[in-house]
Amino acid sequence: MAEATVVEESAAFTRLTLPLMVQNGIPTTPMNYATWYRYVAGTDKELKGAIDRMIEQGESFSEEACEMLYRRYCAEKDETAALALRESLRNVLGGLLGTFGNFNEQSDEYETLVSASLEKLSDQSSVQDIRTIVDEIIDRTKELGESGRSMQNTMKNAAEELEELKKEFERAKTEALVDFLTGAANRKAFDERLAKAVEESSAGGNPLSLMMIDIDHFKKFNDQHGHIVGDEVLKFTAARIKEVVRETDFVARYGGEEFSVILPETSLEECQKVAESVRVVFAQGRLKKAGSSTYLGQITVSIGVGQHQKGEAPTDLVRRSDQALYFAKETGRNRVATESDLSGPAEEDKKAASM
Ligand code: GH3
Ligand code: MG
Ligand code: MG
Repeated sequence: MAEATVVEESAAFTRLTLPLMVQNGIPTTPMNYATWYRYVAGTDKELKGAIDRMIEQGESFSEEACEMLYRRYCAEKDETAALALRESLRNVLGGLLGTFGNFNEQSDEYETLVSASLEKLSDQSSVQDIRTIVDEIIDRTKELGESGRSMQNTMKNAAEELEELKKEFERAKTEALVDFLTGAANRKAFDERLAKAVEESSAGGNPLSLMMIDIDHFKKFNDQHGHIVGDEVLKFTAARIKEVVRETDFVARYGGEEFSVILPETSLEECQKVAESVRVVFAQGRLKKAGSSTYLGQITVSIGVGQHQKGEAPTDLVRRSDQALYFAKETGRNRVATESDLSGPAEEDKKAASM
C-alpha cells in the first residue's frame, strides 16, 4: 500500500514538473529535470527557497544558473528521487499511451454516429433542410477529424519526448557511476558493488578479495610534469589495471590517485599474485608523452590486499586492505603487502600457540 502511494505521488510530481519547466523556459535536460522534480516534490527546503527567490526576483535561469542549482542541490543527493522518477515516468508514459487509445475510440464513435445521422436524414422531407444539415455534419466531422489528427500528433510527440527523456535518465544514472576522468567506476559504484560482492560471497561461501592501489609519489610527478600530464597518467593507470585483471573483477577509482579492485571468487594468495602482476606492469614500463618521443620517466604503485572475513562489513575489508597499502608504502613503496603482513607480534604468538 505504502509503495503504491509513493509511486502515485511521484507520478503527480512528474506531471507537474514538465509544464513548470516550460513555463520558466528551462530546457528539459536530465540535469534540469532532476532539479525541478526536486523543487516540485518540495522535500529540499533550500532548493525550494533558492528557486522561489529567483522566480520572485525575475532572475534568468541561464545555463550557468541551472548548472549551479543542480550542482549545489542535486548532484550529490540520494538516488531515491531518480528511482521514483523512473517509475513515475513509466506511469506517465503508460497513461499517455492509454489516452491515445481512448481518443482513437472516441473519434471512431463520432464518425459512426455521424454516418448513422446521415442515413436517418434521408427520411427528411425538405430538400433544403437536408442539404443544410448534411453540410453541417460533414463540416463538423472534418473538423473533429483534423483536431483529432493534430491531437494525436501532439500526444505522439509528447510520448516520444518522454521516452527520450527516460532513456537520458537511464544514461545519466550510468554516468553517475562512472569516474569522469578515467572512465573507471567511481567511488559510489565501488561502494555499491562491494556491498553486493560481500553479500554474494557470504551466500555462496566463495572467497572475495580486495586490492587498494595507490600511485607512488604522484604529487612529485604532478609537480614535475603538470596536472594535465598527471591526468593522462591517471587514465593510463586505470586502463592498465583493467588489462591485467579479469573481466569479472571490478576496477574503480577510489579517489585521487588511488584505485581499487574487487576480485570475486579469489583468495588472498590468488589476489596477491594478481596484485604482483599489476605492480610489475608499472615497474617495468616507461611513460612516454603522447605524440612525442619524450620520456616522462616511470611511475610505480603500491598495493594493499585483503580478503573478506565471514560476517564482517564491507568497510572493515576496505580498512584492512588500506592498512596493508599503508604498510607497503611504509616499507619502501613499489610493493604489494597483504593483511597477513599486518599481524603484530601478539597475533603471531597466538597463531604459533594454536598450532
Ligand atoms: P604516496 O607515495 O605516499 O602515495 O605519495 P603521493 O604524492 O602519491 O601522495 P599524496 O597523497 O601526498 O598526493 C597525492 C597526489 O595525487 C596529490 C595530487 O596532486 C594528485 N592527484 C590526486 N587527484 C588527481 C587528479 O585528478 N589529477 C592529477 N593530475 N593529480 C591528482
Ligand atoms: Mg600516492
Ligand atoms: Mg593516495
